[in-house]
Amino acid sequence: MEQIRNATIKQHLIDPETCIQCNTCKSVCPEDAISNDTGKYVVDPDKCTSCMKCIPNCPTGAIENWRMVPHSMAYSLETQIAWDALPRELTAGELSAAGGPDTKEPEAEVSKPSKNVQGRPLSDLNIGSTLPPWSAAHPYTNLYGPENPITATVTGNMRVTDMDWEYDTHLIVLDFGSIPFPVLEGQSIGVITPGVDATGKPHHIRQYSVSSARDGEREGYNNLSLTVKRVNKNREGNPVHGVASNYVCDLKVGDTLKVTGPYGKSFLMPNHPGSHIVMICTGTGSAPMRGMLHRRDRLRRSGKFTSGKLMLFFGARTKEELPFFGRLHKIPKDLVDVNIAFSRTPGQPKTYVQDLMRERSADLAVLLADPDTYYYICGLRSMEEGVIQTLREIAEQAGVNWNALSQELKNKGRLHIETY
Ligand SMILES: Cc1cc2nc3c(=O)[nH]c(=O)nc-3n(C[C@H](O)[C@H](O)[C@H](O)COP(=O)(O)OP(=O)(O)OC[C@H]3O[C@@H](n4cnc5c(N)ncnc54)[C@H](O)[C@@H]3O)c2cc1C
Repeated sequence: MEQIRNATIKQHLIDPETCIQCNTCKSVCPEDAISNDTGKYVVDPDKCTSCMKCIPNCPTGAIENWRMVPHSMAYSLETQIAWDALPRELTAGELSAAGGPDTKEPEAEVSKPSKNVQGRPLSDLNIGSTLPPWSAAHPYTNLYGPENPITATVTGNMRVTDMDWEYDTHLIVLDFGSIPFPVLEGQSIGVITPGVDATGKPHHIRQYSVSSARDGEREGYNNLSLTVKRVNKNREGNPVHGVASNYVCDLKVGDTLKVTGPYGKSFLMPNHPGSHIVMICTGTGSAPMRGMLHRRDRLRRSGKFTSGKLMLFFGARTKEELPFFGRLHKIPKDLVDVNIAFSRTPGQPKTYVQDLMRERSADLAVLLADPDTYYYICGLRSMEEGVIQTLREIAEQAGVNWNALSQELKNKGRLHIETY
């Protein structure tokens, strides 16, 4: 016990200065270690297992903070709540004086081993990369925060799902006028919904993926688009009124709104000729894929980029629910290989994106073995496990060692996951 008390832990902390309280970390933590009872997001050192599940989707990087402290002096939740800024690192001398290991002692770090959550192999839980592809363009991040948001003007709001159905998804075009707001495909922005929540605090910022290319929804314009689904049912199917999605979907041309960001440093597309992109998405998870497709299409039309395969696996319950359904069929076949799965078409067998991936396993196996292929998974959180499992099956059937490949995908920024 004495040994553990004196050992040093690497304590996971959230930077209160850059956290935009978007709730992403808390919503994915499998240990319930992250709380925000007072509004501020804090990590319980007794619950955190360092599983790293919360790291990839944090838009600001506030989640990527650790401090070495003696186990007996781990920062409590109350201490973290009182902070306006993170404490500095303790020096080796301070650590030693406080009862931590001195440099002569063997390594005594006791950050707890990550658990195998729901029986899944650890490597499959943390497979998403936090590194961008080597040839990705440099992203700008956090240019505008909650204290200094940028004002955008709505210049378009178009419904992109069937009018007669309850599923209501909109393509919203935001214009930034003469103020620079540089984004890359795969990045997201934050939307500040006016008003306060039930506790009287400002609504937390919701993130939306950019669904246009870096040079604008309209090429050469300082604008971008979002693809937003109106949330009117929760995941259990009960009626709810999603705060931000309804606000955004109801915006009219000419309205202004407050925006933060841009966010995201790794879910970025490769830029080198010959790089292949495999996009696997459901619903509004198609937003970043749309941006990437526009980018490649524009490069291709200008004759600057002619090599590199694009594959899209896109799933929804029905065709009425699938954003951009009609337009998808107009995409040039030689630009992208489109595979669409519907899981609730009356009278048809349920088909998920994984089923189509299996059907295309011969092509995917070739791409998996190619170091120039980059994978992007975006959409419903529930799709993540099945898609990864399918990639694993395809690799193993092709005789590829999955453990080695998954490490490679992660370490080389070749597999990116954004689910919500
Ligand atoms: C990195 C990132 C990118 C995102 N990109 C997009 C995007 O491009 N388009 C998009 O539409 N959304 C996107 N989201 C989700 C978005 O940020 C909001 O979470 C979503 O719009 C719901 O917010 P809300 O304020 O309307 O609902 P809330 O008021 O936050 O929630 C109301 C209720 O609905 C439930 N709920 C929340 N989200 C959903 C959902 N998606 N489906 C069903 N029930 C839900 C909640 O549990 C709650 O009970 C993204 C999220 C992240 C983290």
